[in-house]
Amino acid sequence: MKSVLIRILFSFLVCCVSMNCLAAPAEESGELRAEAAQWRQEKRLIDMHVHVNSTEVHLARAVRILDKAGIGTGVNLSGGTVTSKRNVPSEFARGKALADRLFPGRFLYYMNLDYAGWEDEGFSEQAVRQVEEGFRLGAAGLKEFKRLGLSLKDKDGKLLKIDDPKLDPVWNRCGELGLPVSIHVADPKAFWEPYQASNERWTELKDHPNWWFGDPEKYPSRESLLEALDRVISRHPKTTFVCVHFANNSEDLDWVDRSLDRHPNMMADLAARIPEIGRQDPERVRQLFVKHQDRILFATDFQVYERLTLGSGGKGRPPTAEDAAAFFEKHWRWLETEDRDFEHMTPIQGDWKISGIGLPTSVLRKIYFENARRLLERSL
Ligand SMILES: [Zn+2]
Repeated sequence: MKSVLIRILFSFLVCCVSMNCLAAPAEESGELRAEAAQWRQEKRLIDMHVHVNSTEVHLARAVRILDKAGIGTGVNLSGGTVTSKRNVPSEFARGKALADRLFPGRFLYYMNLDYAGWEDEGFSEQAVRQVEEGFRLGAAGLKEFKRLGLSLKDKDGKLLKIDDPKLDPVWNRCGELGLPVSIHVADPKAFWEPYQASNERWTELKDHPNWWFGDPEKYPSRESLLEALDRVISRHPKTTFVCVHFANNSEDLDWVDRSLDRHPNMMADLAARIPEIGRQDPERVRQLFVKHQDRILFATDFQVYERLTLGSGGKGRPPTAEDAAAFFEKHWRWLETEDRDFEHMTPIQGDWKISGIGLPTSVLRKIYFENARRLLERSL
């Protein structure tokens, strides 16, 4: 008799929970988390920013990480160039073919531009042909690295400019073909601040001295790089620019907000910037994400080469599969809960805590997969 009563009481409670008659905020968050867990079970999520070496071993390792995290598709931004030499298929063609054969549907490949021949008269036409060849081979988009503006140089030793008119036909052709451009311009603000132990990104900078751009003799200012990006986005309204790392200005959310307002063709990925965004007022961040819910893309910047990198890394112990699982868990916690002051997912980026923004389900599903599906419709 007693056990029957207990069972009745238990089913009453289960019914209450499922009918949402106990709808307190905590309960809503529980439902949201259950729904998001279901999406992960179905592997509906898309990571818009990964770098995977196109070998069987590295692709397999990346798939194990994606599986554990509940991500269906990883967008490999390091697809390589479409340049082929002596009739050997290009790096892009080989890598994509291997990924498609071994793990069909798990990776999308972005092509990268080959700047060889930059000085030649016909560089722009040749670069447009690269884009067309990438499109023909099934590139889902084009990725440009921070090398543009910070390390690529012409024959006189001058840094190539992000808004060099020679590249306009490239951005333009991407727009015509419906190829989105993921573009990395500049870097965190601290990489322009003095190279010394008091720099808040010192742990990262001391292991990567070449990430420091604070010498004005050698490098343009961070602001001028961001301004050049702004001009490129303005000049090509029919091309979608996914500005990676939250447009590399997550330190200034008002700037990101204004840029997204100004440019309907701009999107921003979250790769490796939740630590920076997450240290700011969670209510302000939440408002921004709700306002631009159609333009923000889930992305992590996990990298599988000889070494695994989770957003960023240094010379310490290489991360393990367990570290990768914890890395993704923290992304879910930040996006799905209103937990306060917890350790972020990329400790090397700095010694501070982050606070979750507990997004509504309808916004979360856009950021996790719907926005990416719309953007990558042609390739999925
Ligand atoms: Zn990256």
